[in-house]
Amino acid sequence: MAALAFGANRGAMIPRIVLLPGDGVGPEVVGAARAVLEAVGRAAGRELAFEEHPIGGSALDACGEPLPAPTLAACRDADAILLGAVGGPRWDDPRALKRPEQGLLGLRKELGLFANLRPVRAVSALLSASPLREERVIGTDLVVVRELTGGLYFGEPRGRTATPEGRRAVDTLVYTDIEIRRVAQVAFDLARKRRRKVTSVDKANVLDSSRLWREVVVEVARDYPDVELEHQLVDSCAMRLVTAPAGFDVLVMENMFGDILSDEASVLAGSLGMLPSASLGATRRGLYEPIHGSAPDIAGQGVANPLGTILSAAMLLELSLGWADAARAVEQAVEAALARGARTRDLGGGTGALSTSGMTEAILRELTAPAA
Ligand code: NAD
Repeated sequence: MAALAFGANRGAMIPRIVLLPGDGVGPEVVGAARAVLEAVGRAAGRELAFEEHPIGGSALDACGEPLPAPTLAACRDADAILLGAVGGPRWDDPRALKRPEQGLLGLRKELGLFANLRPVRAVSALLSASPLREERVIGTDLVVVRELTGGLYFGEPRGRTATPEGRRAVDTLVYTDIEIRRVAQVAFDLARKRRRKVTSVDKANVLDSSRLWREVVVEVARDYPDVELEHQLVDSCAMRLVTAPAGFDVLVMENMFGDILSDEASVLAGSLGMLPSASLGATRRGLYEPIHGSAPDIAGQGVANPLGTILSAAMLLELSLGWADAARAVEQAVEAALARGARTRDLGGGTGALSTSGMTEAILRELTAPAA
């Protein structure tokens, strides 16, 4: 039996996947993930419809807008969106009024994507690539759920003023119970599919917004009696992430805490090129992307690691298309290829390093190999 013999479901609605390759290595890694999605579709006997649209710097070049209206319209109509990365030195002029990043931020805002999920797993074959000692990282399998559309990055008032005493700047950390409740629900739903534990991260000993956060998370937890809830202050959480990361399952936190801690957590896995993410809103339609940027230093060389985008495609299969078994098959194919020694340059492949397409072929071989 092929490793990918699951979920044959001919005749169902054809899922629409919008591909936004973007800039730099984006087109290379999105092309790799598309090949994997197509293989999954073929194995399941299901069709997937793909359309490609510009975003970021390439969209600025093509039509003068980082998020062209046809791109946004296609994303609104899609079942799922897979993005590469945006940005690069070509569009870095600080005087520019329109910048590539506005395309991605605009898309998240327009689609109401309020929850950002970043899973971090220590893959056995890559334990030695982590900056932490193997015995600390082993067993790490966690997801950071970061609130994405509220908090300090969006609160009003904000800005700078000149006062008689000197310059003054203000940012506002504001949350409503609705904003907290919906992201907490995402975390608890996710925990139910995993090891049933949620760690809610806050600074409730100092901040009023954190005290509301904790109160609302406790209210949400009442609907999930089968999920264990613990509270952790953000400072001690930062320490625990590098001393005992295997103790976490799902972590949920406000926007800025999540920005910082999800980057800290990401180094546990060894390489930036390995890590996927999903941004979700009130519907099943999600935006999936690797956490790395456009890597302009290696763009066009065919050496980018496609695994972060391929694992993002696995999240897309599970969370937007409901194909959990296909998602597991893709994840297992990645682990199996790494266990056999497949390495891109960033994973320490050295002179025998695989190219982007070489790594993609290694994953496709594992996906279609007869099951052991
Ligand atoms: P980066 O993630 O692009 O690159 C950091 C380092 O990691 C580089 O050495 C790069 O070669 C390497 N790297 C990244 N992805 C890799 C992969 N798949 N395989 C192998 N190596 C990989 O971060 P940066 O250099 O700070 O930013 C470059 C551009 O990307 C900037 O314009 C930045 O604004 C943009 N950016 C975009 C996103 C996004 O689209 N979500 C995220 C971060 C940065």
